[in-house]
Amino acid sequence: MKPILTLSNAHHLHERAAAFAKTASDAAESADTAGAIDAATWGAFHRSGLAMAAFPEALGGAGLSEGSRQSDLCMILRLVGAADLCFARLFEGHINAIALVCRYGTRAQMLSLADSVAEGALSAVWGADDAAGLAIKQQGDRSVLRGRKILASGAGLVTRPIVTAASPAGQMMCLLDLARHDNVDLSGWTPLGMRSTMTGAVELSGIGVGPDEIVGVAGDFMRQPHFSGGAWRFCAAQLGAMERLVELFREHLVARRRADDPYQLQRVAHCVASANTARFWVEEAARRLGASDHDAASTVAFANMTRMVTERCALEIMQEVQRGVGLVSFIRPNPIERISRDLSTYLRQPAPDLAMGDAARAWLASTDPVGEF
Ligand SMILES: Cc1cc2nc3c(=O)[nH]c(=O)nc-3n(C[C@H](O)[C@H](O)[C@H](O)COP(=O)(O)OP(=O)(O)OC[C@H]3O[C@@H](n4cnc5c(N)ncnc54)[C@H](O)[C@@H]3O)c2cc1C
Repeated sequence: MKPILTLSNAHHLHERAAAFAKTASDAAESADTAGAIDAATWGAFHRSGLAMAAFPEALGGAGLSEGSRQSDLCMILRLVGAADLCFARLFEGHINAIALVCRYGTRAQMLSLADSVAEGALSAVWGADDAAGLAIKQQGDRSVLRGRKILASGAGLVTRPIVTAASPAGQMMCLLDLARHDNVDLSGWTPLGMRSTMTGAVELSGIGVGPDEIVGVAGDFMRQPHFSGGAWRFCAAQLGAMERLVELFREHLVARRRADDPYQLQRVAHCVASANTARFWVEEAARRLGASDHDAASTVAFANMTRMVTERCALEIMQEVQRGVGLVSFIRPNPIERISRDLSTYLRQPAPDLAMGDAARAWLASTDPVGEF
């Protein structure tokens, strides 16, 4: 796929992200119908420089995974989430994988991944396991993977994923180099929304893992505050979709001359307040993780509460928009229909009750005033 443009000048990042978001938005409906994002959108993504953006500038990126750039990343995830939540999911996984390699990997691993991405590859973080789980086993004189990953976004498309695998030392991360469409099963991906994320099972048994593949040391993947604190990124993508729904609601009310009705005004007020409530939380969660000005426990607790707030605000917005727009919001190709399906599905993230409970426990265990926690 050469030549791929890289982002040598970070100033252009927002402009390019906005231009790419327009392309992704225009393609979102057909991607939803096809259950896949088309090659033209992927080409535009790579040409925009966003694919490389999470790498340091020295490697052709824009330093987007660095702590000081989290508010830029937040804005871009909102833009892409507003355009197509499926694309935002894949983009978020790609960014997360690059950030993990930059944080815990060797320079050789960073260079190898940067070369692949510059050539058009996509990365991802595949952590979810079936009951058996993915493990590193000894086979003769080499270590190999045994098992598969499930709920792996971009299955068949992603060639440089980070996978988590059990080992005698604990949970390890492996940076793999797969062929496209290798041992992928998408037959179980029949969801309400997020169809074009190509989320499926990937069989990985027999792949050798050595020093080139193993990233960091046992336990790095779930090391805090980054593991739970990074939840703000999917909240930012969800926020983009929420903001788009609220804007589509306004367009509808204005076009139908229904904006003066007091009941609709109340819905609009609730929607705007919910979108901005979520935005304040998500931006602060991003800032705290990047700035490291709070201890790990309170950074994690804040991110966990951000998940709760974002989910609540998203559910309220979807209900208000659907009630305020009515039946047409359930009929294709009205974008409210697709975005609501995608958002409802993507809101389902791991262990939300535990995240909320842990956040509450963390505050109870502290002596901080609530406003400073
Ligand atoms: C579009 C999409 C793409 C994805 N892509 C990836 C990917 O690329 N890589 C990846 O690793 N994963 C991916 N995932 C999976 C994701 O990381 C989570 O595994 C998944 O979303 C969990 O959702 P769940 O509702 O099944 O969670 P659960 O944790 O099962 O939560 C369901 C409910 O059960 C409750 N609950 C959880 N645990 C317990 C318990 N022990 N006792 C009682 N109640 C409990 C929760 O609070 C919640 O109410 C993706 C998911 C989606 C939707």
